[in-house]
Amino acid sequence: MNFDVKNLPTPIYIVDESLLKKNLELLKQVSDATGCKILLAQKAFSMFSEYPLIGEYLQGTTASSLYEARLGREEMKGEVHIFSPAYREDEISEIISLCDHMVFNSFSQLKKYHPVIESSGKKIDCGLRINPEYSEIETDLYNPCIPGSRFGITLTQFEHYLETENLEEINGLHFHTMCEQNSDVLERTVRVVDEKFGKFISKMKWVNFGGGHHITRPDYDIDTLIDSIQFMKEKYGVEVYLEPGEAVALNTGYLVTKVLDTLENGMDIAILDTSAACHMPDVLEMPYRPEVIGAGKPGENPFTYRLGGPTCLAGDVIGDYSFKEPLQPGDTLVFCDMAHYSMVKNNTFNGIGLPAIGAWSPEKGTRIIRQFGYDDFKMRLS
Ligand SMILES: *Cc1c(COP(=O)(O)O)cnc(C)c1O
Repeated sequence: MNFDVKNLPTPIYIVDESLLKKNLELLKQVSDATGCKILLAQKAFSMFSEYPLIGEYLQGTTASSLYEARLGREEMKGEVHIFSPAYREDEISEIISLCDHMVFNSFSQLKKYHPVIESSGKKIDCGLRINPEYSEIETDLYNPCIPGSRFGITLTQFEHYLETENLEEINGLHFHTMCEQNSDVLERTVRVVDEKFGKFISKMKWVNFGGGHHITRPDYDIDTLIDSIQFMKEKYGVEVYLEPGEAVALNTGYLVTKVLDTLENGMDIAILDTSAACHMPDVLEMPYRPEVIGAGKPGENPFTYRLGGPTCLAGDVIGDYSFKEPLQPGDTLVFCDMAHYSMVKNNTFNGIGLPAIGAWSPEKGTRIIRQFGYDDFKMRLS
């Protein structure tokens, strides 16, 4: 860790901009080598104070909603793309005014909104999300290809549609079937997409490979990613888009927290001023165990504690960790890899305050960018 955690208000997320830059440089290598375009999927990371930096390396943002689209347009230069399972009528004109690409999840949505886009006079690239019915994701919660999935158009549906209709309204196809995966999975996915949908891709201007590419992870195989992109570009003469979320912010941020109390109930327990349920919901949802700086697995060091949050949820437990010294109230603990899917998902359940948001860079040191208070809790209720 590059910065000093003393004297910080806690809890606080701190993004290390030198680490973020490293990720962005790697992503830029991929776009430089292939000519593909890479967009930030804001769903994973919407810390807009970093958008000017991200915008120096990536070609724009992608959104899952009107508000994300607006944030991308307001805070970063470049293209704004959007995909939604279904668009709302009362939002469609604003979305049209903000976006460069719109991806539809069904033919019915395309048929409903394409005329609205036409009559707006704005030039928008329209695409369809396909469901290649091929995914290697083992957790159903994250698998858009499970039977009964609400994402994308299957080959059967595509062929049925084309018995009476054509593809004139669209110039791109989008698939998103991966989650935290290496490029071998992409290679196999692209093969399936090519076999099933190749005859439609030849009529397209672009193909969007979605997110879930763990490009900035140490063991990620960049060459296979580059080959997969080149394959699609060369075979069909299309532009390729990637829209990673997690890979942009992977291993760039920390959540700094303090111990409020320690207790004992058959084992040692520490109550922190941060909550799994409120501030790192993926710890419970995925579930996963974030690393704590200086701590080990249970039993690895002499003092093992169950770390839990200040809410009344019995399961608000981050995990069991061992330390070299006993924990004391006031001690600072630092959770790693807390930039993505954290700030964007946090909540004020139980009236617990939101962590502050900060950044560190070698040039500017530590900055506290935003702090939250009672109003942020009350404002969402009535
Ligand atoms: C979630 C999502 C992404 C980003 O996924 P990551 O796993 O964070 O890379 C990109 N595109 C779409 C359509 C998504 O739903």
